[in-house]
Amino acid sequence: MPKIDVDLSSDTVTKPTRAMREFMCDAEVGDEQKLEDPTVNELQEMVAELLGKEAALFLPSGTMCNEIALRVHCRPGDEMLAHRTAHPIHFEGGGPAALAGVNVSALDGPRGQYDVDAAAAAIRPENRYMPRSRLLWVEQTSNLGGGSIWPLARIDAVTGLARTHGLRTHLDGARLMNAVVASGLSAREYAAPFDSAWIDFTKGLGAPVGAAIAGSREFIAEAWRLKQQMGGAMRQAGIIAAGGIFALRHHVKRLAEDHANARRLADGLAVLPGVTLDPSTVETNIVIFEVRGALDANAAVGALLARGVRMGALGPRTVRAVTHLDVSAGQIERTLEAARAVLR
Ligand SMILES: *Cc1c(COP(=O)(O)O)cnc(C)c1O
Repeated sequence: MPKIDVDLSSDTVTKPTRAMREFMCDAEVGDEQKLEDPTVNELQEMVAELLGKEAALFLPSGTMCNEIALRVHCRPGDEMLAHRTAHPIHFEGGGPAALAGVNVSALDGPRGQYDVDAAAAAIRPENRYMPRSRLLWVEQTSNLGGGSIWPLARIDAVTGLARTHGLRTHLDGARLMNAVVASGLSAREYAAPFDSAWIDFTKGLGAPVGAAIAGSREFIAEAWRLKQQMGGAMRQAGIIAAGGIFALRHHVKRLAEDHANARRLADGLAVLPGVTLDPSTVETNIVIFEVRGALDANAAVGALLARGVRMGALGPRTVRAVTHLDVSAGQIERTLEAARAVLR
C-alpha cells in the first residue's frame, strides 16, 4: 500500500493526541460493572448534562448505542422509521433484524433527511396485518447525506408527529457535536425532542474508544441490562472513558477547523472539470462528490491513493472525504494538488 500522507477516508482514523494519552494514563479507575469507576461515572454525568437527559451510559461503540436503543424501544416485529441511508440499515451487520427483530421502513428525501410528510405516509394504521410502527430515527449529522444538519424545525415536526402516534424517538448523534458547532445550537436543544440520544467519542472528537447514550432513568436502567447481556459491560473502563472526557473538554470547539477545511476542500474540488459538487451543501466535516469522465469512483480513489491521499468510494461515481483533527489546512492544499492531477 502506498504511503498515506492525508487520510480523509473517515474521521474515525484519528489517533489520540499526546495530551489525551497522558490524561487517560492518569485516570482514576474502578470496576465499571459495579458502577465503581469514577471516571466512567464522571463521563456519564457530563453526557447526561450535555444532552439534557436524566442519565447516560458509557458503551464500547456507537453501534452498540444504536442496537441497544432498538432493543429498549422495540419488541420483535415492531417497525422503525429511518432515512434510507441510516447507519443501522447499512453498517451494523444486520443488527436491527438479528438483535432486535425490528422491521425497517426506509424513508426517502434529499441529503439523508426525510420530511414530516414522508414520515406521516410511513406510519402504519392500527392493523394486525401490519408491523407496528414503534420508533422514529434521526441521524444528526447525516453521514451518507454528506454531513447535512437536520434543522431544528424539521426535527420538531417529525418527532411531534411521532409522539402523536405513540412512537418513540431516537437520535443517532455520532456527529451531533459537529452540528452543534456548525449551527451554534446546543446539544441539549437538538436532543430535547428525543427519548434517547447518543454521541460518539471516536469520530470528530478524536478519542480512541467509546460512545455514550442518554435518556430517562428507566431507559438507562434497561439499557444497562442489555449492555450486560450483550457483553458490553467493562471493568477498569475509566482508562478509555478519560479519552471521552478529554475530548469533550478540548476537542469540541476545534471542530470548526474541520468544517473550514471541508469547505476549502469542497471549493477546490468543485471547480475541477472531473467533479460534480455544490460546495454550498457542505455544512460540516463531510464532502461527498461525484466524479465524471474517464475515471469512476474506485479508479479516482486509487489514483488519489497513489498520490498519498486516501478517500472512500461510496458508489460507482460517488466519493467521500472526511476532515478531522489529524488533517491540517496544509494537507487540504496537498489534497487539492493531487485532485487537480487526477480529476482533470
Ligand atoms: C460511525 C457511526 C455509527 C457507529 O459508531 P461506532 O462508534 O463506529 O460503532 C453510528 N451512526 C453513525 C451515523 C456513524 O457515523
